[in-house]
Amino acid sequence: MMRKAALLFSLLFALALESYSLTYFVAVNGSDKNPGTIKEPFASIQKSQEVVNAGDTVYIRGGNYAMSESQIARKQGIYSYVTYLNKSGKEGASIKYWAYPGERPVFNYSDVKPQTRVIAFYVSGSYIHLKGFEVVGVQVTLLNHTQSECFQNHGSNNIYEQLSMHDGQAIGFYLLAGSNNLILNCDAYNNYDYTSEGGKGGNTDGFGCHGKKGDVNNIFRACRAWFNSDDGYDCISSFEPVIFENCWAMYNGYSPKFKSLADGNGFKAGGYGGRSVDALPNPIPRNTIRFCLAVKNKASGFYSNHHISGSDWYNNSAYNNGTNFNMLSRLRDNKTDVPGYGHKMRNNLGFMARSKEMDKLDTAESDISDNYFTLRVKVEAKDFLSLDEDELVKPRKADGSLPEVNFMRLKKNSDLIDAGVDIGFPYKGEKPDLGFLEHQ
Ligand code: CA
Ligand code: CA
Repeated sequence: MMRKAALLFSLLFALALESYSLTYFVAVNGSDKNPGTIKEPFASIQKSQEVVNAGDTVYIRGGNYAMSESQIARKQGIYSYVTYLNKSGKEGASIKYWAYPGERPVFNYSDVKPQTRVIAFYVSGSYIHLKGFEVVGVQVTLLNHTQSECFQNHGSNNIYEQLSMHDGQAIGFYLLAGSNNLILNCDAYNNYDYTSEGGKGGNTDGFGCHGKKGDVNNIFRACRAWFNSDDGYDCISSFEPVIFENCWAMYNGYSPKFKSLADGNGFKAGGYGGRSVDALPNPIPRNTIRFCLAVKNKASGFYSNHHISGSDWYNNSAYNNGTNFNMLSRLRDNKTDVPGYGHKMRNNLGFMARSKEMDKLDTAESDISDNYFTLRVKVEAKDFLSLDEDELVKPRKADGSLPEVNFMRLKKNSDLIDAGVDIGFPYKGEKPDLGFLEHQ
């Protein structure tokens, strides 16, 4: 009996430990000398990290956080890390840094101008969940080749959710290492490095994913990238496959006044720049781009970028990009460009490319059935309920999901409905439709 009671007690004790998590608060009018309660909140996320443990939540109250150089948590080499998140949660017990429900915190870095690269949030911890706040005004101060970043990820099993990185000179989100990270419902827009290298803005992508060997299962879902001076999404240099799904890219490579800036691809899916052959990954990863939308990007909507392999392109829609689909590949010498080989393309849809609908595709060396450019369908304006681009930058829904749009949504009588083929995702009607929205 005693043994049973002792066992029960230790079980309950373990349960209590498991569910015992604390809540802290950060607020604009807080102080890092406070205990971090709702009435006496901290002033900074950095301070809150000192006290949190796995499973704890830090609520960030709404308002404008004017960040200062005195808050830089760590300077190391070429970097200034303003907020340095290196404490990890555990499986099933993430550390949460969340906007307080119903409020919107904005972290403004306009006054943070060290003579280094600026990383607003450095995240080397794992099992961290960041949610619901904005990062604005991150600066580039150096004149030579450089870049700043709103978020730089090295940890694993992290979730970046409902974050908005905008009106700065920095890349929105940048992964250099880590596995099983989810970037969900995030927006990166109006980001332009007008300072370095003569102000060409050549590194400022909305989202970048450049993990090393073994950094697997990183997924970008339902994100938006628009008016970033370089590309919307870029996974040049990733050594493992990256998945982009339900993501949108508009107007990249342009300023909001449509001044031509840098590369300007919607989705730059791979490639290895000038990397030497012995420094290439082996095997070369296949990236996946599915149910995505690319609109009016300066260069290509969907771009294979000299990748040394094919990728998987499913149910994407492209409209009015320079080239809608550019499948350019490269041989293993990482020098010789060739028409795209090894691609698998299904159910893709394009309309009104400014230059070419499809370019640099080796149709004999790729698996490309059931796309608008292979089927006997006619794509016309009257196939769509709307081509009103303003819909695409509408506010998100309360839960952070993408706004409902009629943009490129098919009309009932369109021949593009049920024109696709089953590739293992849910669909309505007889068969999948072409493009990023399944209509009926
Ligand atoms: Ca880029
Ligand atoms: Ca259908």
